[in-house]
Amino acid sequence: MALSGIQIYKLLPQTNCKDCGDPTCLAFAMKLAAGKAELSQCPHVSSEAKDKLAEASAPPIRVVELGEGATAFKVGGETVKYRHEKTFVNPTGLLVFLSNATDAAKVDAELKSLNEVKFERVGYTLAANGAYLRDAKGDKDSFLALVGKVAAATQKAIIVDSASADTLKAAAAALKGRKFAVSGAGIDDLIAISKETGCTVVAKGADMNAVADMGAKLVAADVKSAIIDPSWSNLRAALTDNIAVRRAALDKKQREVGFPTIAFACGMTDDFYTEFAYANMLLAKYSGIVVVSTLDPAAILPTTVNRLNIFTDPQRPMTMDQGIYTFSNPGPDSPVIITTNFALTYFVVSAEIEASRVPTWLLIMDTEGMSVLTAWSAGKFVADAMAPFVKKSGITEKVGHKKIIIPGYVAQLSGEFQEELGEGWQVIIGTREAADLPKFLKEYKG
Ligand code: SF4
Repeated sequence: MALSGIQIYKLLPQTNCKDCGDPTCLAFAMKLAAGKAELSQCPHVSSEAKDKLAEASAPPIRVVELGEGATAFKVGGETVKYRHEKTFVNPTGLLVFLSNATDAAKVDAELKSLNEVKFERVGYTLAANGAYLRDAKGDKDSFLALVGKVAAATQKAIIVDSASADTLKAAAAALKGRKFAVSGAGIDDLIAISKETGCTVVAKGADMNAVADMGAKLVAADVKSAIIDPSWSNLRAALTDNIAVRRAALDKKQREVGFPTIAFACGMTDDFYTEFAYANMLLAKYSGIVVVSTLDPAAILPTTVNRLNIFTDPQRPMTMDQGIYTFSNPGPDSPVIITTNFALTYFVVSAEIEASRVPTWLLIMDTEGMSVLTAWSAGKFVADAMAPFVKKSGITEKVGHKKIIIPGYVAQLSGEFQEELGEGWQVIIGTREAADLPKFLKEYKG
């Protein structure tokens, strides 16, 4: 049973030391009760109180971790219904569906894609997270062969699904030491396997009512790592239930449904484009894991970019570190460009500089992640802030000239910037659009 803010407050040190970032222990307790803070933010809470508060401070939707090492990922742990309220924290896992009825060549191709299909975007590597393996034939030997093959091929997440508890136990033994999940058998068998191996349980039922009953059993058995699968066969049911689950877990603190969900976009349609349209809607509306039929790069790129956008903190722009960035080994005569540290600005500008193959210095100034025009209008990318940055950046020790190129959108600050920089400096107005940079740089005479 969740504790109220006042009950939590009574267990806190009540010193109002502010180390948690809140002005009082009461304010922190209220946030904790609302699931908007984590107990670890208070460094002074006693271990006795910690135990009592564990239940209250647990996120309303449990966190599940799957996969190994660098490929490990977490799902669940969400505390808001709408992204703009705070942020969504753990991006939806994207798994490919394989079974012991899948053609061997298709298994090989998808495993290759699982390991090799990845994209770099604004400093993040975008890729799928693992494989969902189903014993579609009810055949232990061929299923274990598939599990062994996938486990040997990838460190990414594996969920094994068989109606046979015996087959699942053997699969669990084959995956021993990894963070995997089991699904398909009766809930009591799954709980027993989880207790023995520490694996995650997927509570699969015919509908939400069946799953909620299983969820209550998981809570009673103190299984903390679990996923719920209400066997959705169409998008409408999945979206409706996902929203209901999020509301029940967050607003009503119903622990029996406070788990990440799994949805099978691949089971809702046979059409490739429809499947990925569904997958994108499912990851936007609360599915913890989405299973797809293929890791075709043409579908994985837009899907993972969409996922990145949804799970990026809307209140904290993606930023680059302030400093000097180099392209094509620039020398003392190479042009110097200055822009802001909004990550998207950096990646668009840097891609165009790279494409030009002109050796170039790029000065990235900390404008709190604002783009050029926003930073200019907020007084962050203005002459009297830019000039000191340029002088302190160390660029003058790297180049033998005093010329600097500014974005065309802030042409109006060129005169003042030149004045602030001092004698000998020349401010050159660059292009308004990054796409015009290659031509500009190739024609640039310095
Ligand atoms: S850090 Fe702990 S003791 Fe200090 S104000 Fe926050 S809740 Fe209270």
